[in-house]
Amino acid sequence: MKSYIGADLGGTKLLLGELDGEGRILRTERFPSGPLSQREALDLLQRALDKFLATRTPGYEPAAVGLGLIGRIDGKTGVWHEIDRNRGEALPLGRLLRERCGLPCFLDNDVRSAAKAELRFGEGRHTRDFVYLNVGTGIAAGLVSGGRMITGGHCNAGEVGHTSSGLSLGVPCPCGRSDCAEAIASGSGIDRCARLLRRQFPDTALTFPESGRVSAGEVFRLSEKDALCRTLTENAATAIANLIMNLVRFSDPDTVVLGGGVVADGFLFPRILEKLNAHTVRFVTRGIRLTSLDPASIGLLGACSNAILGMEETA
Ligand SMILES: [Zn+2]
Repeated sequence: MKSYIGADLGGTKLLLGELDGEGRILRTERFPSGPLSQREALDLLQRALDKFLATRTPGYEPAAVGLGLIGRIDGKTGVWHEIDRNRGEALPLGRLLRERCGLPCFLDNDVRSAAKAELRFGEGRHTRDFVYLNVGTGIAAGLVSGGRMITGGHCNAGEVGHTSSGLSLGVPCPCGRSDCAEAIASGSGIDRCARLLRRQFPDTALTFPESGRVSAGEVFRLSEKDALCRTLTENAATAIANLIMNLVRFSDPDTVVLGGGVVADGFLFPRILEKLNAHTVRFVTRGIRLTSLDPASIGLLGACSNAILGMEETA
């Protein structure tokens, strides 16, 4: 039977997995990573794939490798253009890995990969027009129209976190604008807002770690009784609700699926829903919902979906 190798490269680890065509995980292996340059990531991926492919699952033959990575990626050519605007060289990762492991390699960025997992194994089984909105460390979306992912002329479509949240708080965003949805409602944005507002709420019980970020989960847990956390939570829910309504106007989906670490615990979800304008979302007939895919494996499933969809497109 055919299997697919997925490689989900995040900030702290590389997760490799072998999945069957139905998305069932046959085996996985973790490799520690950290902040890597593209060349270092290539080196890690080559070594990890060598090791992983040296073991075979009885009854299965790997057909292709799929990768989910951060940054700007051309899924059609397999070129990883950049991690961010300060760290970039056009690395032909798909070709280099194919030469190394002898299998076709398909890649895309992490959020579009998760959206492809949704397309193949989640909401995409019921609809051809949906938005997958990821609210994690950052905010981005996979926009699926007519069953096709919108990628744009520079492989940059879906960076919707850098659109106005509709709030006027004066929160600077690393992109150069202020009050972007990502600057207010992402994991990094909630941290930034908490630190900006800290002096206005001297009695807050929120933990401010010396290194690392304020915990969005702690902000939500404290929001019933802590004024700072209530403000942060309220602003995040408003920013995400406004973003959803803008996206609905933009691509006319019948489903909006939310995923990512900030929404995974379900706390923010009802608070987002109550801020939606019924008229604006009236054509979202399948609703606004949390992903039904397991947050712990959606990255791996997305990476494998790149391989499965890539093989179908080239067949
Ligand atoms: Zn921005």
